[in-house]
Amino acid sequence: MVYAVWLAGLGLLFWILERIWPRRPRQPFFRQGLISDVAYVVLNAHVLGVAIGNLSIPLIAWLDGALAAWNLKSAVYLGVMSGQPFWLQAIVLLLTIDFAKWCIHNLLHRVPALWRFHQVHHSITDMDWVGDWRFHWMEIIVYRGLLYVPAAFFGFRGEVMFAVGVFDTLIGHFAHANLRWNIGALRYVLNSPEMHIWHHNHPETGPTNRNFGLSLAIWDWIFGTAYLPAHDPARLGFNGIETYPRQLPGQWIEPFRAVFRR
Ligand SMILES: [Zn+2]
Ligand SMILES: [Zn+2]
Repeated sequence: MVYAVWLAGLGLLFWILERIWPRRPRQPFFRQGLISDVAYVVLNAHVLGVAIGNLSIPLIAWLDGALAAWNLKSAVYLGVMSGQPFWLQAIVLLLTIDFAKWCIHNLLHRVPALWRFHQVHHSITDMDWVGDWRFHWMEIIVYRGLLYVPAAFFGFRGEVMFAVGVFDTLIGHFAHANLRWNIGALRYVLNSPEMHIWHHNHPETGPTNRNFGLSLAIWDWIFGTAYLPAHDPARLGFNGIETYPRQLPGQWIEPFRAVFRR
């Protein structure tokens, strides 16, 4: 099944679940920025995601040929995972990619120039699964470029990379969903709405730079960045969000404007 079908199916599933078990019952369906965020789903998840996935195929083939020509193929193109069973490849890929993403996400918050790009994602004020996809296109380049192209060099099968991608979408939708589900002890393993909402809290409501995990929560518990009080933050966003652009075009231009304003 193509990724677009999984994306549409998971979106529909979480729209239904959010109606049945809403975490914030008074949050309207047509919340601020919904139309713009649907455009983000189409552009970030579908158009750019698929385009970059397709671009990486000839890129890998080109690198492959160049390395072979220089007799470096066996030194770089390790293929150590290619002979392993599907389940082992999936677990290793999920753990390594998720940890790398956790590290990158830390940098997006801690390096001011990168934060300007990641700020787009944190401009969400009413959280639901659609908000998962509100981020600057630069993030796709950084995450996919740094992770999936090298993953291919270690010999992970395409189906394994696809399955991990679908799993990441499932947990990403879940963690952003307006959903009152308690996953019990699994909260120490998987990202969840109760944990991720505290990644988006406004600085007025409590500590920031917590819960960096994307699909897995384990890294935050291991490295001491987990934060999970019994209540939800009263407000999401960042200082100065009042004047931040509210729609996709302005949000994609804003990080560049910020560079030139300095
Ligand atoms: Zn973040
Ligand atoms: Zn988020």
